[in-house]
Order: sequence, then structure tokens, then C-alpha cells
Amino acid sequence: MHTPMCDNIVMHSTECVVVGIAAPNRAKREWLERMQRAFSSAVQLGLDAAQAGQTCSRARLHKAVYPGARELGLPADYARMAVNASVSLARSFYGLRKAGKRASFPTVSGSQGIGLGVNAYRCLRNGKRWVLRVSTGKRGQYVWLPLRVPASYADRLALAYGDARLFQRDGKWYVALPIRVTAAPAGCSSNPTFIGVDLGVVRHATAATPDRVVFFSGKEARHRREHFAQIRRRYQRHRRTDRVKQQRGKERRWMKNTNHTISRRIVDLAAQYPSPVIVLEQLDGIRDRTRGSKKFNRMMASWTFRDLANKIRYKAERLGIPVVFCDPRGTSKTCPKCGHATRSNRPEQGRFRCVACGYQGNADMVGARNIAAAGPMALSHGAPDMPRPEEGQPGFPGGWSQGMRASLAFRL
Ligand SMILES: [Zn+2]
Repeated sequence: MHTPMCDNIVMHSTECVVVGIAAPNRAKREWLERMQRAFSSAVQLGLDAAQAGQTCSRARLHKAVYPGARELGLPADYARMAVNASVSLARSFYGLRKAGKRASFPTVSGSQGIGLGVNAYRCLRNGKRWVLRVSTGKRGQYVWLPLRVPASYADRLALAYGDARLFQRDGKWYVALPIRVTAAPAGCSSNPTFIGVDLGVVRHATAATPDRVVFFSGKEARHRREHFAQIRRRYQRHRRTDRVKQQRGKERRWMKNTNHTISRRIVDLAAQYPSPVIVLEQLDGIRDRTRGSKKFNRMMASWTFRDLANKIRYKAERLGIPVVFCDPRGTSKTCPKCGHATRSNRPEQGRFRCVACGYQGNADMVGARNIAAAGPMALSHGAPDMPRPEEGQPGFPGGWSQGMRASLAFRL
């Protein structure tokens, strides 16, 4: 396997941390609130244009937002972030619609806060204290916001880099900061071992290494989930919504714990091989969902799979094992022996039987092997058809519509 790119791989993961801002005085609070109103209005300009023109084109939204944002009193850096936010909201809406999902057109809510461009802020240390210095757009004039930093984050704030976001929750202000961490590419050499991991519904995960396939059973998990669902239904019948909620929390904690164990075992397995690279399927960000299988759609919607994928990535990166994402299209229907790819290769749940060459096997095993085989491609080309990052920025931290953790692995 020839993968000349591997020596050039440097792993950067961007973790988003949310830090509280010490109660601002009246002048600062008024400034923040004024900025938030102006920012929301500017984003709304973009959404109006997106809806009117049925577009999410950056050029067109920029035209619609930027001049208006400047008129609203937003400095250039903030106006640019307002453009980004409207593009990102419009794209996620049109993306959902294209995927056949029903979604109402997004509107701006105050909770979205104020986008802080990479040049609009600095995290500065003053002795033991951290202060967020925010630009007002006028040279040399800043708003200083003292941060309430948990001791565990204190040293990491020095690594804050990229677009951030100021926002309000329950009357308090926070800043979401991207923290850039460079993982040592210890596992990277010119001859990597690809470990393909297939996440499944019946089996929790299946890992294919060059010499064996390991199943991480989800049987127990399924039983437990059914058990939880039963209890929940009983409470629902008795209209005990408090108990239903409590039960949901229990189930979630239990799944998280299971995912911890499975991800640990997968990463430990990978660590036994020389220069391991873990290959996962790209679960989201695929624009053209031709794969569209029931299994895939269910996984897309499931919090559990995302959580497991995140935990694998996180644990692997801590050991310096690179994680790459491959195109999920075809991984479940391609014959590992002759390469023939068709839906007919999957006659029934869990079975694989190639209609061309007659090769037979367990479907999860075939999936994991195909994912491992897609490793070199994923390593040299990056993730398939990802939503484009905003103009050289490592994506908007936390996203305007997604969770609070973003992570990227890219080539330098
Ligand atoms: Zn075949």
C-alpha cells in the first residue's frame, strides 16, 4: 500500500470550551446587549435573503448581509461573522431539505449570541486571572471581560485560536472558545496499519485488523435498551413524566458507560499494531446521501453512535493514533473479494452474499473490512465531501446548529 501523504499528517483537534464571564458592569452589559441585537438583525438579513432567493450561496448572502451589518454598527470582523452565521444556518436548512427531512426555515434567536472572529478577541493572562479582550472595531479600544476559568482549563486557554462566540444563558454571559490541540502523530509512518471500525445496530461495533475481525457485541445493550423502554412505557401510561425523564437520564448514562468500555477496547486493539490508523465511516456531512439505507439513517439520527464515534476518536487522539473518516457509500454492499457492489449482495439482515462471485460472510465483518480498505483513500484525501470550512477558518466552533464540540483532522 503506497501512501506517500502519511509523513505529512499532523493531527489538530479543535475542542470547544465554554467559559463563564464574570458579571459585567452596566456599561459592558449594555455594549454586549447592543452588539447581540445588531448581530441577530444582521444574521436575519441573511436568512431573509436566503429564503427570498432560495439560496445559500455565500456570495449572495454576503451581499445581503454585509452592508446592512455595517449600517447596524457592527465592526467589519463581526459583520463577517454574521455572514458566516447566516450561510451556515441556510446551508443546514437546505441540506436537511435536500435529504428529504422536514424542517422549518431557521430564524435567529437571541441565544445565538455574537460571533467573535479570530481577530476580534484575545485571551490574555493577568497573573492567575484570564481576561477576554474584545475589539470594538475602533483602534485601540477594547472591552475587557474577566473570565471565570476552571482550574483544569487555565493552561489551555493560551491555545485558544479560531472563531469564537459570545452568548447569554439565563442572564449570564459565556464565551465558547476553540482550543487547538496538536496531537503527536506518533502512530504515523509511511506504512500504517488500517483498523476499520463498523458501527452497527445489531453488533455495537466490529473492528477489522489485517489479521482478524473482532466483534463488540451490542446484544446486552439491546436488551438493556428494551428493558429501559418498557419501564418508560409503564411510566408514560401512568403519566409520570418526571419518572420518564429520570429513566431517560439513567439510560443515557448507561449507554455512555458502555461506549466508554467499547471505545477503550477498540483503541487498545488498534494500539497493538504498528503505526495504527483507525478508519471510521463519516456519519454526517455527506451531502449526497445516496447510501440512504435504513441502518444508516437510523445511525445518523442516533445519539449513541455519534457518542461512540466521538469517544473512539478522542481516546485514539490522546494516544497519538490518527483517526480518519471514509465515505460510507458502498461499504456495506461491496464484495471484499471481487469488488462487485450491489444492494443484492445483502439478501437478508446480517448476511452478505456476493451475487457475482458467491463470496459469503457476516455483513458486519464485510463492512469493517471494506472500511479498513477505504483507509488509504481517506488518509490521503481527507474526509469525503465535508461541508466546506468557512474561508480558511477551522469551522465555526460548536457550529450554529450543531453540538459544542468540533474536531478536525487535516493535512498540512
Ligand atoms: Zn464477489
